[in-house]
Amino acid sequence: MSNSPASAASRHATRLVRIGKIAVGSAAPIVVQSMTNTDTADHIATALQIAQLARAGSELVRITVNNDESAKAVPKIREQLLKMNVDVPIIGDFHYNGHTLLKDNPACAEVLDKYRINPGNVGKGAKRDTQFAAIVEMACKYDKPVRIGVNWGSLDQSVLARMMDDNAARSEPWDAGRVMREALVVSALESAQAAEAVGLGADRIILSCKVSSVQDLIATYRELARRCDYPLHLGLTEAGMGSKGIVASTAALSVLLQEGIGDTIRISLTPEPNGKRTEEVIVAQEILQTMGLRAFTPMVTACPGCGRTTSVFFQELAQSVQEYVREQMPVWREHYDGVENLTLAVMGCVVNGPGESKHANIGISLPGTGETPAAPVYIDGEKAMTLRGDNIANEFRSILDNYVATKYTKKGVAA
Ligand code: SF4
Repeated sequence: MSNSPASAASRHATRLVRIGKIAVGSAAPIVVQSMTNTDTADHIATALQIAQLARAGSELVRITVNNDESAKAVPKIREQLLKMNVDVPIIGDFHYNGHTLLKDNPACAEVLDKYRINPGNVGKGAKRDTQFAAIVEMACKYDKPVRIGVNWGSLDQSVLARMMDDNAARSEPWDAGRVMREALVVSALESAQAAEAVGLGADRIILSCKVSSVQDLIATYRELARRCDYPLHLGLTEAGMGSKGIVASTAALSVLLQEGIGDTIRISLTPEPNGKRTEEVIVAQEILQTMGLRAFTPMVTACPGCGRTTSVFFQELAQSVQEYVREQMPVWREHYDGVENLTLAVMGCVVNGPGESKHANIGISLPGTGETPAAPVYIDGEKAMTLRGDNIANEFRSILDNYVATKYTKKGVAA
């Protein structure tokens, strides 16, 4: 019997699009991206937040470019990032006035690595096509890729009206939801065709069709993937705050990723007041990592606890170990090949503790209520030592540091 792990379906075949140094689509890893919420015109605050997002693991960062001040700030943001030694592609998010901002601010057009165009927000009536074409011409001129990002909150009303007319002519009309989903897909595909007609290469186009309902998102992207080979940017728009936003995004994206659909993802979480913007990056990484699609940071397996352990120590240890590896990762990633694949287990008692610990690279089984106050540590499946006393957390971190330093090949050093 094969012992190979279960896995997702193979990726839906797409073209490869390059955004600065990052490749999206085809066989490239699924890319994590995020978006700032600073005033772009404040170039220092925006550069600082881009740096935070990039250091947390965002491989692309989008910024809004909504007025002349923000367009003028874009080159300064890039300069500031270079000073901070942060090299991450920046995407400009344009609505309504992108054609003017890009024409009036050539330095902004040059510095951005990709333009996001919302076909529902480029202009009304006759202006829609000319203003859309003007942005695409700038992308051709500066050799930039674009994302044609359709959103149901700003769906091109002329496309929706046409889809409704087509539907009225059907002998068995579709329900309103299906008509709306078709309008999203048609808006994206027709806009991509229009961009190609202006002269943009098919390998310069990424598509997205975001909605805020999980089932609609899944149905829409299945259809989009069936009908094109452009790379797809996945995201549940306006996912919401806290656990609701995380659960809804995870539910929607996991189904699609499992089917091989999606080449780059963004989790649109509403931050808690004073919450960290980087949370959306961590959630995106954890979706990909827990599904076995990519590895970013060593992950801690921990039991939920139950009546067999009344101590909160194992919860505190699990939390502190996960925080510790996240803090260490920027340095470890620089120095050690493959350290992101390290697995850790922190378990609450003897029932599943030793067994789960043996499956991890390093596992610790803490004593449950009434058990001998000793914590066996397992390394690569073998019991390596037993920790006791008040210093278990520090000793466990030392074991972890030592394991990383001895088991992973140092970068630049031949094995
Ligand atoms: S490992 Fe022990 S403490 Fe943890 S959930 Fe299982 S029985 Fe409860």
